[in-house]
Amino acid sequence: YGSELLRNFSIIAHIDHGKSTLADRLLELTGTIQKKSSGKNEQVLDKLKVERERGITVKAQTASMIYNFNGRDHMLNLIDTPGHVDFAWEVSRSLAACQGALLLVDASQGVQAQTISVFHNAKERGLTIIPVLNKIDLPAAQPERITAQMQSTFGIDPEDIIRISAKSGKGVDSILEAIVTRIPPPSGSLAAPLKAFLFDSLYDRYRGVISYELLGDKVASCHTRKKYEVTEVGIMHPEEVPTDSLRAGHVGYIACNMKESSEAHIGDTIHRVGEPVEPLPGFQPAKAMVFAGVFPVDSSDFPKLEESIKRLTLTDRSVTVQRESSSALGQGCRLGFLGTLHMDVFRQRLEDEYDANIIITAPTVPYKLIYRDNKEVFVSNPTEFPETSDTASRVKEIQEPIVKASIIVPEEYFGDMMDLCFSHRAEDLDHRYLDSGTATSARIILTCTIPLSEIVTNFFDQLKSRSSGFASFDYEDAGYKQSDLAKMSFLLNAKPVDALAIIVHRSAQDKIAREWVKKLHKVIPRQLFEVPIQAAIGRKVLARETLSAMRADVTAGLYGGHYERKMKHLENQKEGKRRMKKMGTVDLPQEAFFDILSNK
Ligand code: GDP
Ligand code: MG
Repeated sequence: YGSELLRNFSIIAHIDHGKSTLADRLLELTGTIQKKSSGKNEQVLDKLKVERERGITVKAQTASMIYNFNGRDHMLNLIDTPGHVDFAWEVSRSLAACQGALLLVDASQGVQAQTISVFHNAKERGLTIIPVLNKIDLPAAQPERITAQMQSTFGIDPEDIIRISAKSGKGVDSILEAIVTRIPPPSGSLAAPLKAFLFDSLYDRYRGVISYELLGDKVASCHTRKKYEVTEVGIMHPEEVPTDSLRAGHVGYIACNMKESSEAHIGDTIHRVGEPVEPLPGFQPAKAMVFAGVFPVDSSDFPKLEESIKRLTLTDRSVTVQRESSSALGQGCRLGFLGTLHMDVFRQRLEDEYDANIIITAPTVPYKLIYRDNKEVFVSNPTEFPETSDTASRVKEIQEPIVKASIIVPEEYFGDMMDLCFSHRAEDLDHRYLDSGTATSARIILTCTIPLSEIVTNFFDQLKSRSSGFASFDYEDAGYKQSDLAKMSFLLNAKPVDALAIIVHRSAQDKIAREWVKKLHKVIPRQLFEVPIQAAIGRKVLARETLSAMRADVTAGLYGGHYERKMKHLENQKEGKRRMKKMGTVDLPQEAFFDILSNK
C-alpha cells in the first residue's frame, strides 16, 4: 500500500463509551474478523484476561484492516486505546502514531471528564478529529442535547458528527468512509531511508522481543546503537500476519533478536544499518506516581517473582522497578505505577499470567524532602521517611504531589462532591456549568487542587458511591506543595513492623491511627501471651488495642471474606497456610498481611 492509501487512526473516549465495541464492528465490516453467527464479537482487541474480566481496555492494541473505497483498497490501521485516567500515557503514545482520531461520546452520558482530556490530547497533536455520537439506540439517548454539548465544549460543527450504534452496527459504515475522506494519509517517502518509530513492545516466550512500529533486514536502534537481525515483519490483522515488508507510514510489528527487555526503548527510532537517520521526537517518559512494595508470599519464590515482573514490565513500560527488602516480608520489589487502577491491574496480571502469589503494601506517593542545606530528596517508601526528630533537626520542608482534578457531575450531586473534596483536603475549588439543560439535568464541572495521596486510596469509590455512579473524574499533575506530614508506625509488642508504616497528614493522624489499630486487632490471631498493638508517630503513641492471650479452647482464624478468597489462592500452594512471619516475638501469618494491606 502506497502511503496515499494508508490511514492511521485511534478511537478515543471516556471509559465505557464504546471504543472496543466500535473496533469490533469496524473489523467485522472490513471482513478482518468473521461476524459471529451466534452473536456478537466480544471486544476482540481486549486480549488480556484482566481486560475481559473487568470490561476495560488496559493496553492499547493495533489492528490493520482493508477497506475498499471508490474502487481502491485502503489499509486502515486502528490503534485501540484505554480510557481510564491511569492509562493516559498509553493513550498519548498511541496518538503519536496516528493522523486522526474518532472521538466517541455516549449519547446517553454526554461529555465526561476523560472525553475532555483525550480531546485536548488529540488536538494538541494536531490530529484530525472525527466526532461520533454512539449508543443512539439507547432509550435514554439524547442526541440533540449531546450534540449541542459537543458543540459548546469543543467547538465541533454539528454537521461533522456521525451518529451510530456500535452495538447494532447502525451508521458504522459512514465512519469508514469518513476515515478515508477526512483523515490525511501519513507522510513518508518510499525512497527515503528506513525510519521506524517504536511505540510498543512485548515479550514472546519463543521469539524474544516483538516490537510494534511505524513501518526489514538488518536494523539498528538510535537509542542504544545496537544492531539486530529482523526475523519477521508483519501487520496485526487482527493477529500477527507476516508480510514481505513494512513500508512508509505502515503500522506493524518486527520481530528481531533482542534479548533484553530494556533494549526495546519506547519512543526509539529504528533505522537500517548503514543508513543513519535523524531520530524522531520521542515521548515524555511516563512518571510513576504511586509506589508499593511487592513481595512473594513464599520468600524462596523471589527469583521467580522478579523474573515475572521483568517480563511483565516489558509489555507495560510505564512501571518502574527497584529491589526492596523488608524485615517483615523479606526480599521484594518496589514498583512505581501511574495510578492505583494501574497498580491493581498489574497485580492481577502477575497473578493471572505468571501465577504469582504476592503481598502488596499500601500505596505511597513520592514525597519531596528539602533539607536545610537545600538538598532535595524524593521518598516513596515510608521506611525511608525521616523520623519526627530528624525532621525537626535536618529537614526544612516536606512537600507532597498535588493534582488538578476535574469532576463532572449532575447538579444535584454538587453539594456531595464539594463535601467529598473538602474532606480530602481539596483547595481552590471552582465550578461552572457544562451545559444549561433542564433544571434537573444540568451538569457541572468542578475543578480543584487536591493532594495525590488523597485520591490514591479510595477516593474514586467514594466519588462513585456518593454520586450514584454519575460523577466522572480526571486529573493531571500540578506539582508539589508544602504539607504537614509524618510517618506513622505500627508496633506489635513494642516492635515496629516496617511493612506496615504509612505517611499521614497530621490533620487526620488520630483517626487513621484508631482505624488501623482496630483493623490490626481484628486480623492478627491471638498469641500465647498478651500483645499490645500500637500506632505511633515518633515516640508518641496515638492509639492502642490489646490482643488478649489465647485460651486453650480458642481457635485462631477470625477472618473475613477477603481472606477466604486469598486462601483459595494459597491452598494450591504447598504449606501456604502454615507460613508464619515472626514479628519480634509475635507470629504473624502471611494471611494477616493480606487482610491488613488489601486496602478495602
Ligand atoms: P470502552 O470502554 O470504550 O471500550 O467501551 P466498550 O466497547 O467496552 O462498551 C462499554 C459498554 O457499552 C458495553 O457493555 C457495550 O456493550 C456497550 N455499548 C457499546 N456501544 C453501544 C451501543 O451503540 N449501544 C448500546 N446500547 N450499548 C453499547
Ligand atoms: Mg475498551
